[in-house]
Amino acid sequence: MGNVWIFIEQEGGKIADVSLELVCKGRELAARLGVKTEALLLGDKVESCVDTLYSYGCDTVYLVEDARLEPFTVLPYARAIVDLVREHKPNILLFGATLKGRELAPRVASEKLGGLTADCTDLRIDDFEDKKNNKSYTNKLMQIRPAFGGNIIATIVNTWDDPQMVTVREGVMKMDAPDPSRKGALVRVKPALTDAETVVKVIERVRADKEVDLKGAQIIVAGGYGVGSKENFKLIYQLAEALGGEVGASRAAVDAGWIDHDHQVGQTGVTVRPRLYIACGISGSIQHVAGMKESKKIIAINTDPGAPILSVAHYAIVGDLNTVIPQMIKAFKAKA
Ligand code: FAD
Repeated sequence: MGNVWIFIEQEGGKIADVSLELVCKGRELAARLGVKTEALLLGDKVESCVDTLYSYGCDTVYLVEDARLEPFTVLPYARAIVDLVREHKPNILLFGATLKGRELAPRVASEKLGGLTADCTDLRIDDFEDKKNNKSYTNKLMQIRPAFGGNIIATIVNTWDDPQMVTVREGVMKMDAPDPSRKGALVRVKPALTDAETVVKVIERVRADKEVDLKGAQIIVAGGYGVGSKENFKLIYQLAEALGGEVGASRAAVDAGWIDHDHQVGQTGVTVRPRLYIACGISGSIQHVAGMKESKKIIAINTDPGAPILSVAHYAIVGDLNTVIPQMIKAFKAKA
């Protein structure tokens, strides 16, 4: 049986948290199957990441280094990965459901003509019985994700050719502590890239003024459609600033153009687990709650006493955020 592979996302030699989360989950799946956990590390001069990958539990690192793999563009990455998959035939291939992962995984899947389940929130190994076709499968990857707008949790099984490919949402898998004494095997790979894969040239990269770090934030103040306007979102920023937190948002606020998608919390946004989450003018749809319900303490401010968010909250404030937020800022500043 093939091994469990994880695509390692890195930027400037720093490994993305989601990749380390997936290495930890990959180890668990590999142990259940009795196979190895192996990482695909692509880029230019990224060998410094290898020891970190061993320390999180990779048995093997395929190191694919080439100047044409930096910065990330999807065509050469897909080519190198498809070639490796064809040669080594992994059983499972995991990608983070990040911008890069969401662009890369479908290309690899379509070249391999395999299946891909996007945005998984859990993975496990189990046997599967296809009663319709009277077939049974052992040790398949159960690919678990919300479906139909979050109203059901679907378990998807790929019964055709390996590898079983998924993208997994950031922040949903637990990251175990690294063990620096762990060691593994390094396999250096020279990718066979042609002009066809390097047609896209990155001319310039522009960084956003301030990177939004919702996943790492201990305090998040999130605004929803109840905030009323882009102009009024300044209240949310003021409260976040007073508390030293980040600003989050519901999809309705993002769709209204009041705030960028980077701030969106929920099923199609970021999953967060801060110490404190303050939901202001957010109704509490299943899709929003899916991304913030693990917060240690939740405060909700809403004019509607029947809003679902109030039953998720540890502290519910029924009131107008335009009145409540300035009072909170004043009270906090008086105590500080
Ligand atoms: P609303 O539902 O309109 O709620 C506004 C709330 O503000 C109401 O409860 C109202 O009582 C309150 N309010 C109004 N005025 C005030 C005031 N002055 N003071 C205090 N409270 C006030 N949504 C997400 O958030 N994240 C996702 O990732 C996401 N993914 C989705 C994926 C799919 C496939 C689908 C179908 C939907 C998704 N949604 C997501 C959308 C989701 O279903 C809801 O539409 C959205 O969360 C609603 O946002 P909201 O609570 O801000 O707006």
